[in-house]
Amino acid sequence: MKITALKTFIVPPRWLFLKIETDEGVSGWGEPVIEGRALTVEAAVHEMSDYLIGQDPRRIEDHWQVMYRGGFYRGGPILMSAIAGIDQALWDIKGRALGVPVHELLGGQCRDRIKVYSWIGGDRPAEVAQGAKDVVERGFTALKMNGTEELQIVDSHDKIDAAVERVAMVREAVGPNIGIAVDFHGRVHRPMARALVKELEPYRLMFIEEPVLSENTEALRDIASLSSTPIALGERLFSRWDFKSVLEQAVVDILQPDLSHAGGITECRKIASMAEAYDVAIAPHCPLGPIALAACLQLDAVSYNAFIQEQSLGIHYNASNDLLDYAQNKDVFRYENGMVDIPSGPGLGVDVDEEYVIERAKEGHRWRNPIWRHADGSFAEW
Ligand SMILES: [Mg+2]
Repeated sequence: MKITALKTFIVPPRWLFLKIETDEGVSGWGEPVIEGRALTVEAAVHEMSDYLIGQDPRRIEDHWQVMYRGGFYRGGPILMSAIAGIDQALWDIKGRALGVPVHELLGGQCRDRIKVYSWIGGDRPAEVAQGAKDVVERGFTALKMNGTEELQIVDSHDKIDAAVERVAMVREAVGPNIGIAVDFHGRVHRPMARALVKELEPYRLMFIEEPVLSENTEALRDIASLSSTPIALGERLFSRWDFKSVLEQAVVDILQPDLSHAGGITECRKIASMAEAYDVAIAPHCPLGPIALAACLQLDAVSYNAFIQEQSLGIHYNASNDLLDYAQNKDVFRYENGMVDIPSGPGLGVDVDEEYVIERAKEGHRWRNPIWRHADGSFAEW
């Protein structure tokens, strides 16, 4: 079997899909994207295609090594997202060629389903509390919310009070047994992170995400010592080599590798295994499309330390197109009792509606995250 073509499609709301075709009629899909830089990743995919066309798609590990090591320069969001989507498509091809789901090729599943959480938007306490109630009514048993709006490196305590009030209202609205994750989103710097983490402890959160940016992990030892709340991060780390110092420092309880950013199934499987050896959980990051989610679920199926899956059904980013719009098999993600079943179809399990993808790619997107400013005019982390 030989790879004959790599075709890319920039589709709304903010995604990039990749189709890899072969000379035997089997093809596979991947989602190589980093939010806000879809065109850059697309260019990287096409640069890698020079090597891949004519190769046997089944030699995934070898292709991964060549894509990672063979360009001399390595790592980072663009190259690792390009590798990630190619890797997903290669696993999809292999599974479809053999007529089995990818998790079957990774040793077989060790769980039948996994808990999922839903995002709640809104900034005002009453709005967030209502959003939380809606999510629980839709059957979710866990949710995630942003911790704060923009916060300067040292800021006033009324913003801490406002953040605590929002979380308090959500806890009151959903009761003690719903998992609440609070994402600081890298908006909070060390001085205010210490205060915020400590003040949120009474609300018994499921986890706090990116209490500081992942390049500031040395601050986490101090921050983590102020609270018993589990600490999660990893959406902005891209390989085993990025994650290893986080594990060695023993400051994080949950790793959140993104299957579309951190080298795909091949690399995230290894990251999950490294985490398991440190008694650290994984909760793959996935605010993206159906192919990325399917890849995550294949990994969750075979990772003992996976405990919850992020997913983007109905997320605020998806106003123009949602998760299932691009799937022919709309029942691929079966949600029940706050969990989603592991897909059982061949490959990644999603049958992509290519005609619809081509149609929507005519519109495409130029999604960018917002640029925020503090009151003094300086840049604010989003
Ligand atoms: Mg996050």
